[in-house]
Amino acid sequence: MGRTKMIIAGAGIGGLTTALCLHDAGFDVQVYESAREIKPLGVGINLLPHAVRVLTHLGLQEELNKTAIATSELAYYSKHGKKIWQEPRGKFAGYNWPQFSVHRGTFQMLLLNEVKKSLGAGKVQTGFFLQQAMNKGNLVKAVLINKEKNEMIAVDGDVLIAADGIHSSMRRQFYPDDGPPKFSGIILHRGVTKAKPFLSSSSMIMAGSADKKFVAYPIQNSIDEDGNQLINWIADLRVSAEENIMPQDWNRRADKNKLLREFADWHFDWLDVPSLIDEAEAIYEFPMSDRDPLPRWSFGHITLLGDAAHPMYPIGSNGASQAILDAECLTESLRNNNDIEAALKEYEAIRLPATAKIVLQNRQMGPEQVMQIVEERAPGGFENLYDVISQEELESIAARYKQIAGFDKEALNKKQ
Ligand SMILES: Cc1cc2nc3c(=O)[nH]c(=O)nc-3n(C[C@H](O)[C@H](O)[C@H](O)COP(=O)(O)OP(=O)(O)OC[C@H]3O[C@@H](n4cnc5c(N)ncnc54)[C@H](O)[C@@H]3O)c2cc1C
Repeated sequence: MGRTKMIIAGAGIGGLTTALCLHDAGFDVQVYESAREIKPLGVGINLLPHAVRVLTHLGLQEELNKTAIATSELAYYSKHGKKIWQEPRGKFAGYNWPQFSVHRGTFQMLLLNEVKKSLGAGKVQTGFFLQQAMNKGNLVKAVLINKEKNEMIAVDGDVLIAADGIHSSMRRQFYPDDGPPKFSGIILHRGVTKAKPFLSSSSMIMAGSADKKFVAYPIQNSIDEDGNQLINWIADLRVSAEENIMPQDWNRRADKNKLLREFADWHFDWLDVPSLIDEAEAIYEFPMSDRDPLPRWSFGHITLLGDAAHPMYPIGSNGASQAILDAECLTESLRNNNDIEAALKEYEAIRLPATAKIVLQNRQMGPEQVMQIVEERAPGGFENLYDVISQEELESIAARYKQIAGFDKEALNKKQ
């Protein structure tokens, strides 16, 4: 009997990490990606220590050290630029693994190169859109469409892993009434700007509150002779329901002038928000959306992974990290179980409740709740933070989220 054959649909962060984990465990893997060409798309993302642990086992930490920034601290500020909370991150906080801020495209290409090197270039086929799939006895049959050639192919495998993102066709097959992603009311404006380092030069900051928020962190060091960094930033703005007619397209361009008007007076002595916006190379907009947690992900020999299974708001820096944790867990379940159905059920039993909690927490702003609390209690600003919120309240919100998202330091550091 040959090696167990895994078909993965989607060569995003989740699909490619899963390919590497499964290959390491000795499985035969074939990836199909719908895009004709995999390009380094997106802006910045964060990889939390629990995900970096998995990537380290895949031998990728050294490469990440070269291309990413090891984030040293996270700080929350009010809309007037006054500090609410600050905490060290990654190794600076005593974790055994760093937290990395990195360009999504750079990271995806790093994973793709590693897959091609370890598995062989032919193991990632582009231009193939997973249309539908069915369980057939002990096999699964996947039907893929090559839109360019107007060609349909059917491939057999032992397992099909749908890592096909927020618009997953496999999720739609199992849940035809799921509908489009749920819009939060917030539009995310995402940009990258060459600028001088701010604060510690490896800080991640957030300022404002739910309706109007600015996030910034560097994703690449010393990009020119002037010592500039590539700074990733996200400006959140609440809009009326009628204003949101845009689809969930990660590559849609945004209007800079509207943003400049909205953030015109956000000149802080530690960061100049209007100039970051004004000097951006490009600005993209995306309606912040998620989907309700599902009752199940695994159907016979087919399962969902990453955003296909649990799209969540990009709050608490968890989207990519949770897809990476899925990859590790799925691989472990398949390695430990000869019965594929049982393995996929075990993976679901571990990861579905864990990610459902994060989806729901992120709807309540996750750890960023502290900014909202301060805004509601002191909309005009504050002189003394502790008149508005106590240190105990700040600490308990931060600790609770780490536990829910699975990166509680003591628990994580016990792992290999
Ligand atoms: C182009 C792009 C840009 C992004 N930019 C950002 C960003 O700037 N910031 C951020 O926080 N998150 C971004 N994301 C989302 C982020 O990558 C995910 O939330 C997270 O990394 C989980 O990854 P995933 O692999 O589950 O999903 P994704 O990273 O979304 O990957 C899904 C992959 O599946 C492919 N695909 C879709 N449908 C099919 C199909 N039917 N058959 C085969 N392949 C299919 C897609 O082309 C994509 O490559 C972006 C996603 C994409 C696709």
